[in-house]
Amino acid sequence: MILEQLVSFSNIYGSNEELVLAGGGNTSAKDGDVMYIKGSGTQLATITADGFVKMNRAALAEIFKKEYPADDAEREAQALADLSAARMPGEESKRPSVETLLHALFDKTFVLHLHPALVNGLTCSKGGEAVAREILGDEFIWVDACKPGYILSKICYDKMEEYKAKYGKQADIIILQNHGIFFAADSVDELDEMLVDVLCKLRERVTVDPFFDSGDYDGEKAQKCFDVIYDIYGDDAVITYEPSLESIKYASSPEAAAAVMKPFTPDHIVYCKAEPVYGFCNACIRGAINEYEEEKGYKPKIIIIKDCGYFAVDMTPKGSETAALLFNDALKVATYAESFGGVLPMSDELSDFITNWEVEAYRQKQNA
Ligand SMILES: [Zn+2]
Repeated sequence: MILEQLVSFSNIYGSNEELVLAGGGNTSAKDGDVMYIKGSGTQLATITADGFVKMNRAALAEIFKKEYPADDAEREAQALADLSAARMPGEESKRPSVETLLHALFDKTFVLHLHPALVNGLTCSKGGEAVAREILGDEFIWVDACKPGYILSKICYDKMEEYKAKYGKQADIIILQNHGIFFAADSVDELDEMLVDVLCKLRERVTVDPFFDSGDYDGEKAQKCFDVIYDIYGDDAVITYEPSLESIKYASSPEAAAAVMKPFTPDHIVYCKAEPVYGFCNACIRGAINEYEEEKGYKPKIIIIKDCGYFAVDMTPKGSETAALLFNDALKVATYAESFGGVLPMSDELSDFITNWEVEAYRQKQNA
């Protein structure tokens, strides 16, 4: 019954583009000694009972009591090994979500974790925490941006302990700066009420909305840009061109684009690379892309061009489409953030850490 409910609400939220994009977000449910958590590589929209990994709750609780090495790579490798060892017998072929420990923190039956653009307008803004206090009072825990993986789980664990000591109960909402939000409840209806409540309260505060209707773009210049991009990336490259009102607004000048030149959340780094490149025209974009590649060792996925909007480039249709989907999300986040004190992107240090962590994870997957 609990597992059926979990699958059902995961599919419902996962099919709503305002709430979930690509493989983002995850869900869990606890049933006695067991916790079901979304498997890594599954999507909420289509997940079935088999996509959830059965975890031993007692073994998960032990992980928070253990001391881990300070070195990033050693610590994450050990914590990952302990997480794998916490799978129930018969689950060895599945990989639990990297955010499993955050779900294990809550005692409540159901946990829902999302990265909606509206919520991230708040989490990626200068006034985020203050606005969250105004609308939610003491009903949540705020966590400043930090390294993902075990470190994040441990910080949340410590904050949850502090909260319990102060209020005599657990917090049911955790808001992660530059990342997203967690909700916990004993029933699916309650979970839904909490989500709707937060979204409505944020909506009431929004003064500027993002618009994705087609904008007034320079078609001739855009065509020339296509030619230059194919020339640099090769004829096999797949380009998704986004001449939306929102895209053209941020492309209008380097000053306007500054709001979206740094990543807001890990999703943006994973699907769009940490930073886009900006160019004034088809003539100067070649030099800008070359310079970017020399500096970073890879080509940009997002190319913003004045009066044209942006181009999302990848070698597969899915990669190109997903990059555009997530960069549109970044544009939404930037616009919503205007209502909450202005944009607050991730620090360069954190962005570099996630970029390298991703590369490392990817490399490991390739070698496995
Ligand atoms: Zn997340």
